[in-house]
Parts: sequence; structure tokens; C-alpha cells
Amino acid sequence: MAQIIDGKELGLRIKEKMKVQIPFLQEKYGRLPSLYVVLVGHDVGSQRYVHSKIAAAEWVGMNAHIIALEDTITEVELLNKIYELNDDPCVDGILVQLPLPSHICEAHIVNAIAKDKDVDGFHPQNVGALWQGTYHIVPCTPQGILQLIKSTNVPICGKIAVVVGRSNIVGKPIAKLLLDENATVVIAHSYTQNLKAITRLADILVVAAGREKLITADMVKPGAMVIDVGITRNQQGKVVGDVDFENVCQVAGYITPVPGGVGPLTLAMLLQNTMECFFLHTETSR
Ligand code: NAD
Repeated sequence: MAQIIDGKELGLRIKEKMKVQIPFLQEKYGRLPSLYVVLVGHDVGSQRYVHSKIAAAEWVGMNAHIIALEDTITEVELLNKIYELNDDPCVDGILVQLPLPSHICEAHIVNAIAKDKDVDGFHPQNVGALWQGTYHIVPCTPQGILQLIKSTNVPICGKIAVVVGRSNIVGKPIAKLLLDENATVVIAHSYTQNLKAITRLADILVVAAGREKLITADMVKPGAMVIDVGITRNQQGKVVGDVDFENVCQVAGYITPVPGGVGPLTLAMLLQNTMECFFLHTETSR
């Protein structure tokens, strides 16, 4: 029976450390780290995500603000808002909640965020730095996945890691982080033939496809670590991952649940990135 990797517990521990550290930052630098979340429109899912980010930032003692904008805003108006935040020395982190309305080009907006305020780590210069190995800011979900894997103390070096999914926000960056840990990394995707033959090679299997029960017990090597990134609402309205949890539990050595696995770490890493940006600003302004 697999050992459950508890993301809620690990996320809480990381946030508690920040909660202790933050009052000292106020004392030392005369201000608190601050996160600004830009929300365009009234999508209920996006509103929920934004409120949980703000609540988490406030819980650790940061300054946290929502900038709520109507979905009639033009791309130029939104860009001007981003430039304003870029120029404001009180702003450490800027996050624009995606998706944006279809008349706004997401790439234009993401690319406009100052790279040292880009707490999502999506700016092309931060992506380039990740692939060059000179990074400060890494996208939150892959960073969280690595923390979950490391929390088990199972060595990564020399292991075979299979990543299912090749998106810019999860699959590709976690593959690079695992490569940096000296794993042998295979990336599978929707065109991969005989997925089972590939996933069965994995000592560490990271699944980020957004397909309920894509990974069944027969696709997992006995004793492997399985990290389920997927979040999908199924036909019964239940939030589920990509892994057939109950059956894979019988085969895997370690497994993350959904919910309560990767999600809480994504949130904790957002706060960590905000801290990282704060330090970039305070160190450079001294
Ligand atoms: P995406 O849709 O951008 O990418 C999905 C990837 O999965 C693609 O590269 C595709 O090739 C691959 N894929 C799809 N079907 C496949 C199949 N049958 N076999 C093999 N590969 C297949 O999605 P994303 O943004 O990377 O997100 C993936 C999942 O992770 C989603 O469910 C998303 O909600 C979730 N997610 C969770 C968190 C979190 O914090 N827990 C964060 C980001 C994304």
C-alpha cells in the first residue's frame, strides 16, 4: 500500500515558516512583501482561485491586493495597468489570473509583467533562465511538485522520471527541474504511442494531462512514486486527478491525493516566489 504524500501538511509547514519570518522582514526592511493579483471578469472558478491566493498571502502576513477589472477592459488598458504595477516600488509580485477574455492576448500581458515581479514564472526571460539554469523564479506548480518529491527523501539522482504532459506551465518545467536533479527524464504526451510501456519504466511518475483515470494500476511500476497533478471536475461534479487513486495505491510506493496533493504546494510556492521577488527588490534597492 502506497504511502500518501500529504500536500496539505507540507504546504502548511512551508507557510508557517514564512509566517514566522515575515515580521522580521518588516523590521529589517521597513515594509512587507506584497502580492497583487489581477482578475479580469467574473468567472466563478477564477474568483475562487484568486480569493484563495489572497487569503493564503494574508495568512502568512503579506500585503495582498486584488485588482478586479471588468471583462470589457481593452488590451491596451490592461497593459497600462501592468506597467503601473511594474513601476510601483511597493509591489513585489504581480499575478494575472488566466484565462483572460478572448479579445486580450495572454502572451502580450504575461510578457509585459516585469520579470522580477513575475511570481508565476511565465515571463519568457524567466522561462529562458530556467532552461539555462540561472533562475530565481520557477513556475509554482513544478516547484511544488519537486518539493513533494523531495519531502519523501527518496533520491532522484539516476532515477527514471516520466512526465505525462508537456505544457509550458507544468510538464516542460517539471521535466527540466527533474533533469537538474540528475534524473533520466522522459516526456510523454497525447501523441505518445504505448503510454503504458513508458509509464511502467518510471521510478517517479508525474502526471499532468487533465484526464480522469488516465493512469491505471497496470501502468505503474511496483514501488514507484506517483505525483498526480491533474485537477478535473468529473461528471458527478467531483474534483479528480489523472490517476486511478484507489487501485494505483495498491502498486505504488508513494502517491499524492487529489485534492490535497499538488494544489496546496502550488499555493505555497506562489508565496515563496513573492518572497523571492521581495528579496530581489530589497537587495537591489540597498
Ligand atoms: P494542458 O491541457 O496544457 O496540457 C495537457 C498535456 O497532457 C498536454 O501536453 C497533452 O499532450 C497531454 N495529454 C493529454 N491527454 C493525454 C493522453 N491521453 N496521454 C498522454 N498525454 C496526454 O494542461 P496543464 O495546464 O499542463 O494541466 C494539466 C492538468 O494539471 C490539468 O488537469 C490542470 O487542471 C492541472 N493543474 C493542476 C495544478 C495544481 O496546482 N494542482 C496546476 C496546474 C495545472
